[in-house]
Amino acid sequence: MTGKALDLDAVVVGAGAVGLAIGRALAQSGLDTLVIESQPRHGMGTSSRNSGVIHAGLYYPPGSNKANWCVEGRELLYAFCRSHQVAHRQLGKLIVGQHEDVAALQTIASRAKDAGVENLRWLSQNELKTMEPEVRAHHALFSPSTGIVDVHELMLALEGEIEKAGGNVVTQSCFLAATPLGASACQGWQLDIKVGQQESHRLSCQLLINAAGLDADAVANRIEGLSADHVPQVHFAKGNYASLTGGHPFKHLVYPAPVPGGLGTHLTLNIAGEAQFGPDVEWLGPADPSRLPGSTHPGLNYAVNAARLADFATSVQRWWPSLKAERLQPGYSGIRPKLTQNAKEPAADFVLQRPGHHGLAGLINLFGIESPGITACLAIGNAVRQCAKSST
Ligand SMILES: Cc1cc2nc3c(=O)[nH]c(=O)nc-3n(C[C@H](O)[C@H](O)[C@H](O)COP(=O)(O)OP(=O)(O)OC[C@H]3O[C@@H](n4cnc5c(N)ncnc54)[C@H](O)[C@@H]3O)c2cc1C
Repeated sequence: MTGKALDLDAVVVGAGAVGLAIGRALAQSGLDTLVIESQPRHGMGTSSRNSGVIHAGLYYPPGSNKANWCVEGRELLYAFCRSHQVAHRQLGKLIVGQHEDVAALQTIASRAKDAGVENLRWLSQNELKTMEPEVRAHHALFSPSTGIVDVHELMLALEGEIEKAGGNVVTQSCFLAATPLGASACQGWQLDIKVGQQESHRLSCQLLINAAGLDADAVANRIEGLSADHVPQVHFAKGNYASLTGGHPFKHLVYPAPVPGGLGTHLTLNIAGEAQFGPDVEWLGPADPSRLPGSTHPGLNYAVNAARLADFATSVQRWWPSLKAERLQPGYSGIRPKLTQNAKEPAADFVLQRPGHHGLAGLINLFGIESPGITACLAIGNAVRQCAKSST
């Protein structure tokens, strides 16, 4: 770092799983790091509203950030969970399809291989029957590397690591704006932050990392000097879950063939063994680029409309015919910050925007961090640390 009298080496905006993993990576590399979070607690955004699945990396185009960080992140995450006693289970996952889905399953199998996932395999009907007796499918793939994690325990452990390395996480601290210091941005950033109900508070830092999840575009729009061309138009896509009342026979996660915009209405199990189905994909439209940073999460409607349950039942009954529709209840929901505007466009990659892209030293933006962001968080932390080394 330079010898300038800046308050901090690095400020990370957003204390979701990704911002916390970045904060940990930077603090452990010796940078004086602060993670700021607008909400009263860390992880109240999308990191609290997902399936908690540790993805194997089956779905993403080889060479993409999603593919690379998912495969690397999954191994890092299992190791982290083991060493920090974070609850997790490597349950394995079935991807099941009927006759008409065979091409989709074959695409997953070959894409997974190209992305470095070597242990995905086809199941015989006998194996399928033994592993999940109530699942009916003509074709099934098995991914032994897929698992689940308690995301809250993960975030607590990450926060603990930040503090152990001398960094801090502060809540109720909302990023309002950033201004480059000196004649050029390479001399650092001055930040305006609203702390609690007070008026704005100022601090300065060498490195500014925007990991604000659903608000990343709104934060970027308040960074002076960042051209609007470098801020993507975000579209929100809600993912609704249906919970299952009563018991269930499942030991593995069960996914159908993916649908445009999502992975299909699948069965996930949480650490307590409870089953839920989802998420589906409900496009909510474009985010308002002029909204105040930090205002998105409190303004969203996360309620799950019971009218959607009939569609859940129909898609699940394709592979679990004995499901009785009345056992489904509205569950929770989460929202994806999509960089595409509808399901017709091919899925976008994770964007890690560095100084080389936008021309402002000391600034890193993360856009479109949807699934598999939990799985990838430690790999994203490493990528940002690497990038930070070359930006200072
Ligand atoms: C329905 C659904 C299911 C998913 N399932 C999975 C899964 O099974 N496995 C998987 O790997 N991934 C999954 N994901 C993706 C994963 O949840 C996200 O990629 C991940 O949680 C993103 O973390 P984040 O830290 O980037 O964002 P967030 O968790 O949203 O954190 C961003 C934080 O920034 C804060 N913030 C915003 N603006 C400001 C500001 N101005 N000042 C200060 N703080 C601010 C917010 O309050 C928030 O806490 C799923 C996502 C969805 C929507």
